[in-house]
Formats: sequence, structure tokens, C-alpha cells
Amino acid sequence: MGLVGVVFSKIEARKTRRRMQQWHRDRAEDGKPPGGRRTFGWKEDRMTREPTEAKLLADAVEEFIAGRSLNSIVRDWQSIGVKTSTGRDWTTSSLKRLLQNPRLCGYRRIGNQLVHDDHGEPVVGAWEAIVTPEQWLAVDTLFRARAGHRVGRDGKPAETLPVDHREHRHLLSGILRCGKTKPDGTVCNAQLRVTRQRDCEQHIYACTTKGRGGCGGLGRRGDKVDEYITELVLAKLEQRQAVAKAAGPWPKEAELERIEGKLTTLTEQWKSDQITDDFFFTNVRDLEQQRTSLRNERARHAAVAERAATDTTDIRRRWHTPPEDGGLDISQKRAYVREALHAVVVLPVGKGNGSRGNFNPDLLVPVWREG
Ligand SMILES: [Zn+2]
Repeated sequence: MGLVGVVFSKIEARKTRRRMQQWHRDRAEDGKPPGGRRTFGWKEDRMTREPTEAKLLADAVEEFIAGRSLNSIVRDWQSIGVKTSTGRDWTTSSLKRLLQNPRLCGYRRIGNQLVHDDHGEPVVGAWEAIVTPEQWLAVDTLFRARAGHRVGRDGKPAETLPVDHREHRHLLSGILRCGKTKPDGTVCNAQLRVTRQRDCEQHIYACTTKGRGGCGGLGRRGDKVDEYITELVLAKLEQRQAVAKAAGPWPKEAELERIEGKLTTLTEQWKSDQITDDFFFTNVRDLEQQRTSLRNERARHAAVAERAATDTTDIRRRWHTPPEDGGLDISQKRAYVREALHAVVVLPVGKGNGSRGNFNPDLLVPVWREG
């Protein structure tokens, strides 16, 4: 194939692709589900919920919003033999793809964009939704936050939430940091690791050796620290829930409506030639940006509200229930801890007090996350 042939075949491919996109868009605007294979959660007709799968999905969404890791949900599904719609085992990435699919709440996405109607509202499909748009937006916001695009209240990008790359068997490994001052005057700050010692039944959080970046000079009884930090985190969650409840509905709803109204008016004026192209495009861009940032803000507010709706008394109960009886597993607990805290600095005890036997909560300094 010569160069001209290549160019033509590329143009053809682009045309086909455009026709495909248009076909998808038409279907989406009619509320029809996208074609192709059945999606997990729905029956073969792609419209009706498959009750067992839909329940699993709805629970997964709720738990993910509440801080459970994808990995922990996937392990749960694997253990009860749940398979994908093509009969495979679930993986964290296949579950992530599914949870990111706006189809869950009845929305459609083509490319990177949700399909909107003429009024700028997302088109709602005719198939049965599994979660509410608020829940799906909360999930979407969480994934975006993890991808490093978290935006603070002031609109500036905030630091990203850390992700647990490894499986941890203990509540606070990697979260506790050594607060001992080294001979050169700086604080050690190494992450404490779990060790066990023969004379002690409990696990011990200890600073790693010098060879591994620590000072090796600090340790604390694990059970006591876990218990104390658990109470601290639960109290913080309760406090935040109270704050989120008091925050009430999103305060900028009217502002968003005003911007949307302006956009509609502007578009109508432009369509009927009352304003110039130049005026229209200059103003429409600015308004659309405002609309996008307000919508993002609304989604974040919804995510906070979703969390507030998670009953903390239930978290407290599940914290102290074994996972096999519906309690939280270690990854879920760590998610709550990491959501509340950056770290806990463990200060050394004074000479002669013995670093393990004598537990003093004042020597644990929590570093809270904002929010
Ligand atoms: Zn140290």
C-alpha cells in the first residue's frame, strides 16, 4: 500500500470510528444500553438487574466509599466463587473498571465524557440502575483522588491519598514513625515494623536497624498501641460525621443553576443569531469551566455526605467483630486509619521506664489529615 493508500485507509478508519461513535451516542441519547456483551450485574437483555450480582455490586460500592480496599472486596468475591460475566476470576483491575463504569447509576460515558442532554444534564439510560448517581459520583471522585487529582477546598490540588501497595497483617505497620532523636540532633522518623520477641506474646512495633534506615532504638507493645489508636480514630470518625451532618446540603446549588441558566440563554441567543459567534464562544467557555468546577465540587460534597451516611456506630461494632461474622478485616481498618491519619509519631520513653511494659498514650502523637 502506497502512502496515498495509507492516508485513505486512515480516513476510512476515522469515518467508521465516527459512525460508530455516533451510533453509540444515538443509542445513549435514546436511553438504550451500549451493545456488546452482558455487563456483570445485569441479565442478558442488558436492561434488567441480575439480583445476586446487583446486590454484590451495590454492597461493593457502599463498602468502597466507606474505605474498604478493592483487594479486600475481590478476595471476598473469590472466596465465595463469584465470577465475571465471562466466567473469569475477579481481579482488582477488573473490579475497578466495573466500578468506574457510569452504567452502574444509569449514566453513559463515551470516550472520557458523560453523555449529557441539551440542558447539560447527564442522560439517564432506560436500564435498571444499581446505585444512585450520588454513590457512583462518590466512587468516581475517590478513584480520581487516588489517581492524584485530588483537589482541596481552596480549589488547589491537594496531596494524594497513599495507597496500600502491600498487604499488611497489622493495623499500624508503616503508619507509626519513630520519634527518637538521633545523636546528630535530627528525629529518626523511620517507619516502625512489626517484630516478635520470645518473652512477649504480643507483637511489637519497633524501629528498624540502622542498616535499614532506622535507629533501632525504639519499640512499643503492639496490642496497647493498636487499641489506643483505634479509639482515637473511631472518635475522629464520629466527630467528622457530626461535622458532615451539620454541613447539610451543598450550598452552591443555586449558583450552579444560575450558571446553567445563563448557558441555556446564551446558547438560545446564539442559535437565533442575537449574539455574535465571537461573543458566544468567549463567554460560553468561561461559563462551561465554572459549570465543570461547580459540578466537581458538588460531587466531592456528595462523597463527604455519602461518608457521613455511613453509620459510625456500625463501624465501631464491626471493628470489634471478626471478619467472618461481617466485621471489618485488617485492610478495611487500615483504610479508616489512613483516611484519618497521616502518621503517628511514637516518642521514646524516659530512661528506666522500660519501653514495652509501661504504656503511656501521651507518647503517641497523631498527625491528622484535614477534613
Ligand atoms: Zn528510630
